[in-house]
Amino acid sequence: MAGKRYRLSTVKPRLQEAPKRLQTASAAKAHKRDPAGRLMYGRRWQKERKSFLQQHPLCVDCQRDGRVTAATIVDHVKAHKGNEALFWDRSNWAPLCASHHSAKTVRTDGGFGLPAKS
Ligand SMILES: [Zn+2]
Repeated sequence: MAGKRYRLSTVKPRLQEAPKRLQTASAAKAHKRDPAGRLMYGRRWQKERKSFLQQHPLCVDCQRDGRVTAATIVDHVKAHKGNEALFWDRSNWAPLCASHHSAKTVRTDGGFGLPAKS
């Protein structure tokens, strides 16, 4: 028997899945938990939000750390909890990047089933 045996190596190296970030899920949850506030996140908000970000294009929290990061989210500094006056008060708005916003959401809403800290 001169036949050689060839082993087929069909086992591909497994790609390790990067741990999924929970930031988008938690942000969406925060809004769902607040049905009154959710109604306000409509067309007008999209428009106001956009113009606010044009005037304030950088994340304030990153700036505090000496970094320059584009803000993509307009955060309510004080939780509006469905309060329209507070919701539309621009002095209560802060431009944040996604990671700072999710960090804040976790902190103020208690995040993943944790008690909220003030
Ligand atoms: Zn930031």
